[in-house]
Amino acid sequence: MQPRLTSLNAPNIEREELPVDVLLVGAGPASLACAIHLQRLFESKGIEEKTILVIDKAEEIGNHTLSGAVMDPKGIAELFPNWKDDGFPILSEVREDWAEMLKPGGGSRAMKGAFCPPQLRNHGNYMVSLNQVCRWMSEKAEAAGIEIYGGFPAAETIFDDSGKRVLGVVTRDSGIAKDGSQKGTFEPGMNITADVTVFAEGTRGSLAKNLDRKLGLSKGKNPQSWGTGIKEIWQVDPAIGKEWFGKVMHTGAYPLKRDAYGGSFVYGIAEDKLALGFVVGLDHKDAKLDPHALFVQWKQHPRIRPLLEGGKVLRYGAKTIPEGGYFSMPKLYGDGFVQVGDTAGFVDIAKLKGIHLAIKSGMLAAEAICAAIEKGDTSEASLKKYDDLFEASWAKEELWKTRNYRQAFAKGMFTGMLDFGVAMVTGGRGLVGKRGGHADHTTMEPVSKSTFELPQFNDNDSLDKLTDVYHSGAIHEEDQPAHLLINDPSICGEKCTKEYGNPCQHFCPAAVYEWPGGNSEVVINASNCVHCKTCDIADPYENIEWLVPEGGGGPKYLDM
Ligand code: SF4
Repeated sequence: MQPRLTSLNAPNIEREELPVDVLLVGAGPASLACAIHLQRLFESKGIEEKTILVIDKAEEIGNHTLSGAVMDPKGIAELFPNWKDDGFPILSEVREDWAEMLKPGGGSRAMKGAFCPPQLRNHGNYMVSLNQVCRWMSEKAEAAGIEIYGGFPAAETIFDDSGKRVLGVVTRDSGIAKDGSQKGTFEPGMNITADVTVFAEGTRGSLAKNLDRKLGLSKGKNPQSWGTGIKEIWQVDPAIGKEWFGKVMHTGAYPLKRDAYGGSFVYGIAEDKLALGFVVGLDHKDAKLDPHALFVQWKQHPRIRPLLEGGKVLRYGAKTIPEGGYFSMPKLYGDGFVQVGDTAGFVDIAKLKGIHLAIKSGMLAAEAICAAIEKGDTSEASLKKYDDLFEASWAKEELWKTRNYRQAFAKGMFTGMLDFGVAMVTGGRGLVGKRGGHADHTTMEPVSKSTFELPQFNDNDSLDKLTDVYHSGAIHEEDQPAHLLINDPSICGEKCTKEYGNPCQHFCPAAVYEWPGGNSEVVINASNCVHCKTCDIADPYENIEWLVPEGGGGPKYLDM
């Protein structure tokens, strides 16, 4: 049994203090855009000797960053007007795009040109690897004088005595053994303090989650709603690769049932490579639903399977996507802090895009931070400027148009499609001015109602979870406390087994949770974890807590 820790850091340890002016937690596109824009603003205003520090849990910047990814260039073009000449990594411009509804029997119905839903049209967009994008942006940031530390996971937020003002973060201790004792390699984490802390942890940030709970940042908002996205990169037959290079196909329907929200894609990212992805909303009701198994089933559809003949998987990854939209975004600011990117829900789920919004959120936050530091006031009232700037920006305009999109689909495909049609002619209002939402973990029905069946696996396209995890490059120090904490183990064995059949063994796309036959206790294979955060969101009792593992642990999403 794992030790019952409430924190992965050792208590009462003397820690090195590192004061900076602005601390950014996470090194995704929102964070790096914020740091770069802020540095430029400081320089343009003659504000000197300000330290901007970016920390990330991944050893190398970009290793934990995953996305589809077809990028709307609006954000990057605003940050780097000469982005293309500057060597920004593009896999391909989108040459052709369409959507297809897959039929269970094997056929499909294509929607092209004017018949393709407008939100899925991608002319003018670019296929990218977000891993490469983050590496490129981090090089730009470092060249501009910004400090970036990889392998520094932020474990706790530091507050002032009032408990309301954020002072910075404590990074994760390293060298703690599985039993909680200190090993010879023990290194205490640092206290990094800052005038402003930028939470840019990506989807379901572990610090942002607790910040939200402590300060009530989502009060009056819809609960955030997530989907789990799974992606593989395939090396394919060159004839297929050449035919598909530059093409973007989104598919819907099969194998999802009508009450589950989701979709899938095939992107021709190189003359010999395809990116394949599958997303399913975590508000589905089925306790046995397994997103990875659905992905396998989808790959076996006659529309997809021939594309993979003779090919092999190169990479695998999974992440959750905040899908809730405008009404699910938490308060973006507070005393001494702001939230940006996926952490703050900057995703247009109707278009399946967030990179441009993440970059814009970072830039808007930078403007507010610069103004606050210039006047020596980084209070909540001063940082509200970030929210004001957002409300007046194209990012708000875009998110406002789809403000009810995901909540309407939660009522079923028919309501979703009808509402979206009405929303297009009512500026996003749809059938209802503001739709309410529900927390994903509340939607699961008892396992006795499950109708989910595992697909037949075959040798070529149906990789099992463990083989896929191998392709994610996930690795963690084995002798450390599991970073997946079960708050009350008795719930798992006594309640969850009977009510929901321990759904963690199904919804985790990396085979982390196992219930070996006859055992009444879960086995946690924490080193398989690809940091998708599904378990932290979907567990029906909210009994699983994802905390940062020791520095550097996690997937390696190279070129994904
Ligand atoms: Fe995702 Fe949780 Fe599984 Fe890790 S343990 S891969 S965060 S579901």
